[in-house]
Amino acid sequence: MFHVDPLSAYLNCGVAALVGAAIMRAAETDDLRLRRALRICGWALVTLGVGLLPAGLGAGAAHPVAQLSLAIGSLAGVVLMAHGLGQVQGRDMPTRWVWALLAGLGLVHVAALVTGPLIFGQVYALGLAATATLMAWQGRGFVVSPRNLIERGLGLSLLLVAASSWLRLAFTLAYIGPARVDLLYVPVPVSSLLAALYGVMPITMATLLLTLVNARLHQQLHSRATTDELTGALTRRALRELAPAMLERTPSRQAEVAVLMIDLDHFKGINDSCGHAVGDRVLKMAASTLQVNLRPDALLARYGGEEFVAVLPIDDLPAARRVSERLRAAVEGVDWKRAAGLDRAVTVSVGVALAGAGETLDAVLQRADEALYRAKREGRNQVQVSLMAAWQSTAAAPDQAVTPSVTMTGA
Ligand code: GH3
Ligand code: MG
Ligand code: MG
Repeated sequence: MFHVDPLSAYLNCGVAALVGAAIMRAAETDDLRLRRALRICGWALVTLGVGLLPAGLGAGAAHPVAQLSLAIGSLAGVVLMAHGLGQVQGRDMPTRWVWALLAGLGLVHVAALVTGPLIFGQVYALGLAATATLMAWQGRGFVVSPRNLIERGLGLSLLLVAASSWLRLAFTLAYIGPARVDLLYVPVPVSSLLAALYGVMPITMATLLLTLVNARLHQQLHSRATTDELTGALTRRALRELAPAMLERTPSRQAEVAVLMIDLDHFKGINDSCGHAVGDRVLKMAASTLQVNLRPDALLARYGGEEFVAVLPIDDLPAARRVSERLRAAVEGVDWKRAAGLDRAVTVSVGVALAGAGETLDAVLQRADEALYRAKREGRNQVQVSLMAAWQSTAAAPDQAVTPSVTMTGA
């Protein structure tokens, strides 16, 4: 019959917790909150491991000190794990509450031990049910709305520990018989299941936590590589990754794709006269204005210092020009006094090119850039369309006479 000896399971659990804590120390993240969370969870495992070892090693397990160590070590481990899991989810449990809880648990258990071993067992079971519930509560995001398989696994582990602790409390309160050194007052098949659960739980939690931190780290790196920190727009690298799929023509997608090069006018002057901080605010505001005036299927990237690129599916060139003009007018129309304390409007010049079939991003960008250069030369705060885009929109052949660039002046 399936049988796990509880004291061996405690030994297993204690060693696994110490190994888990050691592995956790090796985890690296430059996210301060996650690093703190990992440190607290690491200490939780150390406390659990050290607490369980005297009883787990067997010799003198019946000694009150071994029993106290078992109880306080495991409860403190669970409380600290609750603290750490709360941090992983961005929720702080005030540190002084944690210390107060630990001190309270310590005192109550010392008092219970003096009262008698059976009372001690009951108080411990009650403490375990309460702290395991606190742990599940602190990690409730993993239970209620797990974002991936790892979080689901963590949530399930927390539920399992909490539910088994309540089951254990129920059996303990109903128990009549001699005091047990392993403090496991549950009938045999259940005690074996619990012992098996305790044997694997610390290493399971440590592994899941490490995987979770690793996944978050990966997510952060990806977001850093693809999102511009100041403006929230895509980075140049992300644009290079995402734009080719948009430029690709498929028989099912007949729509054209417009590439807009948008450059702030006389931005250096703003920096020079109002300072870099104001310049940064202008950049942020300009980016968000562009973003809200683009459809969600458009890409907006910060291509250089004060230069943005938008790539958008569009019906034809006149529509691309209309969108560009809307963007230009939107930036000019911002209340720049309120947004950045400026006495005059910030404007942008826009160069537009419609992507030809099979044309690479670099090629369209170059044409958009040429159009932008013309917009600057012609006086800024205006939209200019690439010559080649113009012949495409009129469906003329390349060697036919081309329609000259179209200018839309905003002033
Ligand atoms: P033009 O109308 O011809 O585009 O003139 P401009 O002054 O906008 O263009 P120029 O290329 O001369 O200057 C761009 C300035 O953008 C210079 C640079 O210091 C500033 N810049 C680049 N990145 C940032 C940034 O992140 N923050 C701030 N505040 N300024 C930046
Ligand atoms: Mg500029
Ligand atoms: Mg520029």
